[in-house]
Amino acid sequence: MPNCDFGRPCDCIDCRTIYEHIKCPKCNFKNYVTVIRKAEYEVDRKGIGAYYFTIPTEPIKDLNCFKCGFLIKKVGYYSDVDNDANKREIEREERIKQGRICAECQQVEEMDFDARFGRVILKEKNGKNLCQKCYAEVIKNEIPDPSSDTEKYYFDEKELEWILEKIKISCEVCGKERWLNAENHWKKKCLKCYRENKK
Ligand SMILES: [Zn+2]
Ligand SMILES: [Zn+2]
Ligand SMILES: [Zn+2]
Ligand SMILES: [Zn+2]
Repeated sequence: MPNCDFGRPCDCIDCRTIYEHIKCPKCNFKNYVTVIRKAEYEVDRKGIGAYYFTIPTEPIKDLNCFKCGFLIKKVGYYSDVDNDANKREIEREERIKQGRICAECQQVEEMDFDARFGRVILKEKNGKNLCQKCYAEVIKNEIPDPSSDTEKYYFDEKELEWILEKIKISCEVCGKERWLNAENHWKKKCLKCYRENKK
């Protein structure tokens, strides 16, 4: 949803539009349509106003399947056929047919997105095509976690390696053990001894 009215939905076309798909009973193709909702501004008893959306129920329309042309009768109300989405869906099906999908999570190459890695790119590992995320998971399991009683590591999915995160060091004065972030490993004294030393 777009950020229009301070993050709240308004009555602009973007806020009112939702995307739906209708499956063709003949070829199973996912046909994408847009539905433009009606927006009404209502003020509640506390005087706070907000937009409320309703989906029109009429007219009930038929739909020609984008892929096979089959006439799907009485699919309900929709505003428009989303041909850009339908073209993408055709392309997606094509890639699935060519086997350009992650063997683990079935994400489609260059079509699907991952929040961390962006557009899916496949890489081969042990005879399988894997997306970035599943590839990182395999590497993580291959390289043993080097963490010990005095060191903690985390796996960086982008660098594909274990990175030192925390280190346990005893204070050179009182001998008390404490966990420090890796970048603070030079701190030889615990906070208490450090403060006492300054007096
Ligand atoms: Zn809006
Ligand atoms: Zn069809
Ligand atoms: Zn995957
Ligand atoms: Zn100390």
